[in-house]
Amino acid sequence: MTPSREQLEQWDREHVWHPFTPMQAYAAEQPLIIAEARGCFLVDLDGREYLDGVSSLWCNVHGHRVPELDEALRQQLDAVAHSTLLGLSNVPAIRLARRLVELAPPGLNHVFYSDDGATAVEVALKMAFQYWRQCPSPRPEKTRYLALTRAYHGDTLGDVSIGDIDRFHGLFRPLLFPIVRAPSPYCYRCPLGLERSSCKIDCAEELEDLIGRHAETLAAVAIEPLVQGAAGMIVAPQGYLHRVREATRRHHVLMIADEVAVGFGRTGTLFACTQEDVRPDFLCLAKGLTGGYLPMAATLTTDEVYNAFLGPPSAGRTFYHGHTYTGNPLGSAVALANLDLLQSPSGLSSLPEKIERLRGHLNRLGDLAVVGDVRQKGMMAGIELVKDRNTKEPFPADQRMGARVCRLARERGVLLRPLGDTIVVMPPLAIDLPLLDHLGDVLYESIKRTIS
Ligand SMILES: *Cc1c(COP(=O)(O)O)cnc(C)c1O
Repeated sequence: MTPSREQLEQWDREHVWHPFTPMQAYAAEQPLIIAEARGCFLVDLDGREYLDGVSSLWCNVHGHRVPELDEALRQQLDAVAHSTLLGLSNVPAIRLARRLVELAPPGLNHVFYSDDGATAVEVALKMAFQYWRQCPSPRPEKTRYLALTRAYHGDTLGDVSIGDIDRFHGLFRPLLFPIVRAPSPYCYRCPLGLERSSCKIDCAEELEDLIGRHAETLAAVAIEPLVQGAAGMIVAPQGYLHRVREATRRHHVLMIADEVAVGFGRTGTLFACTQEDVRPDFLCLAKGLTGGYLPMAATLTTDEVYNAFLGPPSAGRTFYHGHTYTGNPLGSAVALANLDLLQSPSGLSSLPEKIERLRGHLNRLGDLAVVGDVRQKGMMAGIELVKDRNTKEPFPADQRMGARVCRLARERGVLLRPLGDTIVVMPPLAIDLPLLDHLGDVLYESIKRTIS
């Protein structure tokens, strides 16, 4: 028998420990329990519909219950649901690898699968480290990494080491390895105290200097191309990413592009790197890879890196890393169908119009006195709320302004999730213009109501 709604709420409170969730506050409120979904809407136990304004945490590309994706899964179920990729292969994993290599920036010919964004980046970190010990002219002293302030690359300890969001990572510092830090291109609060209108992207110059100064010991630079997502949708100035690539190449440091958030059309192109003609040494993919259906990730890399791991088994050059569900056939099958849809006429080519419509709604938010900064790249946006627009003074954290706006939006049938006082807007790419207008209206109203 299906448990009652009261029973589910009680068991949720008693047994489910939610990620990134202050559990005492969560348990004090009535939980929102999703029972089903259709299109861009999630539906709760009472049948109430909510527009999925953050794509179920940045994953969902085409909405929910997408016929093509459902069908791909059903067909794969009739073949095989899981078999290991450890020394064995399967049909959808092979086809997906081929497809990703065809679509990714040229030269990324090898695909290492894992399960989540965190593991995709962790794999790149370990591969980069091992590469310098095994490449044709080994450089075993290259053991360190450079990453940006405010970076977020996942929650395993390697990723937390390169991450720099104090609220998430600070406590764990004693467990982490040291990092070379370059300033985030956070123009609204420039770490170098400059103004975007007059600066020469000095933060990129600082990063170039740091790479040059530490090149002897740097294994790799890790970066979120174009947008630092969890930092609050910080959009890098045009040309920044290209300079990262140039500097890493010049100084023989590998480049890890973490496209976990920005990949699969989110910034307007299939991958963000291509907007600045960048071919990284590692391309990390997850969130949107399966269209938001199943946990799956991939780390793509070059012949140069891959070849350093070849040799007879006795040479000990193997990459001893793997996850049990690596290359899962169901995940691979739905990822292939996701890519088919992205490449169909209703996919990427429909985005420019939606991106412009979203821009219009974001511009309108400038009317509201608490809106300090609005940042957008493609179909991802962040709205930073401030107490005082002139001084950029933030609201006291205990006012939880971001959470309050999202609460009001939820009452109006739109699900959003803030990053501190930055409201994130990241609807499924498949959203239509009327729904985008609805999202824009609810957003405007919710921010307005929060302050009045
Ligand atoms: C979400 C995210 C990750 C971590 O992905 P998980 O699937 O949550 O492990 C890594 N990097 C970036 C840029 C992300 O946005």
